[in-house]
Amino acid sequence: MILLGRAERRLSSSGRRYRGEAMGRTKKVGSAGKFGPRYGMRLRRKWVEIDRKQRQVHQCMVCGKKGVKRIASGIWGCRKCGAKFAGGAYLPRTAPALAADRTVRKVS
Ligand SMILES: [Zn+2]
Repeated sequence: MILLGRAERRLSSSGRRYRGEAMGRTKKVGSAGKFGPRYGMRLRRKWVEIDRKQRQVHQCMVCGKKGVKRIASGIWGCRKCGAKFAGGAYLPRTAPALAADRTVRKVS
């Protein structure tokens, strides 16, 4: 279901963006609505999947509480204990990072 309403289609073809308008209007695309009609549906879908994860509040490795939010690409901070650490671009701990941790523990 990629169909846009008639009004939206008119806006899209005129190249207008939806920024500043209520985001409740992006029916199917969610947070990818900020891209307007650009980049194609498949890419926008994929992006929404990742964006949802990166916006989540993650568990802190330092205090164990759920307070970790993304500050910038690869930089994560805990709002509960103030810890700041490097992680994945879109997730605080990526699968390769976990594998690396295991290796480090094994060696040391
Ligand atoms: Zn913490």
